[in-house]
Amino acid sequence: MNHCDELNNVLTFFPDAIRSCCILGNIGPVYFKDYDGNIKHFDFNLLKAKKKKFYEDLQNGNFNDLPCENCIYIKEKSENNKYSEQFELIYLNNWTQCNCGCYYCDRLSYSKGKITTRKVKSEYYDILPIMKGLYKNNLLNKDKLRVVFHGGDLSVLKEFEPLVKLFLKEGINKIDFSSNNIIYQPIISKCLKKKIASLNMALDAGTRETYKKIKKVDKFDNVVKNLKKYVKEANSDDPEINVKYIILKGMNDNETEIRKFIELMVGIGIKRVSLHIEHRYAIDLFEEKVPLPENYKKLVSLFFSLCKENSLYFDKPDDVMNYILTK
Ligand code: SF4
Ligand code: SF4
Repeated sequence: MNHCDELNNVLTFFPDAIRSCCILGNIGPVYFKDYDGNIKHFDFNLLKAKKKKFYEDLQNGNFNDLPCENCIYIKEKSENNKYSEQFELIYLNNWTQCNCGCYYCDRLSYSKGKITTRKVKSEYYDILPIMKGLYKNNLLNKDKLRVVFHGGDLSVLKEFEPLVKLFLKEGINKIDFSSNNIIYQPIISKCLKKKIASLNMALDAGTRETYKKIKKVDKFDNVVKNLKKYVKEANSDDPEINVKYIILKGMNDNETEIRKFIELMVGIGIKRVSLHIEHRYAIDLFEEKVPLPENYKKLVSLFFSLCKENSLYFDKPDDVMNYILTK
């Protein structure tokens, strides 16, 4: 019999669909397509029934109505794998507005790169009433529940604070915030201090000029100031703040920028960093089995050796990165 942890645990809110898994992008089973935003039309019993049916079909290898056949995440069901009506991991990805304009951003296909500076509602549907309904219908495993903010930037989402307040009131194990940190959020600071959150961002630069070129806004100094404030207020030897450097062709793919970035992280007190290669470029290399250019290999090894020198914790490369690094 088959089992999939994603199907059993995950609920993902995309602009156009509410689905199961998130890890493979848009291929997993769909609970609701083009939800109209009216909470009266969000049928929690139907959600339960669909999940059960998807799970039973997967378990029995019946892929007629299930787009999971050949998925690498299917595994042999063991006695530890029990079906659960409750979700443990929620991805919030139902809005696309942002107050900056990274040129590599996936949301550009939705928002045409428009920069939003004030708080707005999601242009698709509200998430707060759905989350309240999930709690009320006992569909969340509060002890294990992890919520991940993706989407555009949380600082321009009107529902952001009320959502976090709801999680804190009703019960949550972990919140992963993703933000560009242009705007300081007291509630993020509170969660970091309580050690129930992580804060993740892609800075991609060590200087104001490079930042401005990539992000299309001149907010580098605000970000640095806000990061310092979060680090100080978290009051921990290892605040869970992760700062990414995505290598972008012709923008920041040089030694000087990487050195400045690491210097900046050390100066701010950031302990966790990660290195990525622009997603689309990495996938192209991976799919076409083309080796990583020599200059990129040098930058990658420089980054890792600077991290070691400065005792910065860095994420292990993911599967795609691993592949292209070893070719
Ligand atoms: S089997 Fe694959 S596609 Fe299906 S829910 Fe699991 S991770 Fe998603
Ligand atoms: S901060 Fe995130 S959401 Fe905003 S433009 Fe950059 S990548 Fe996109």
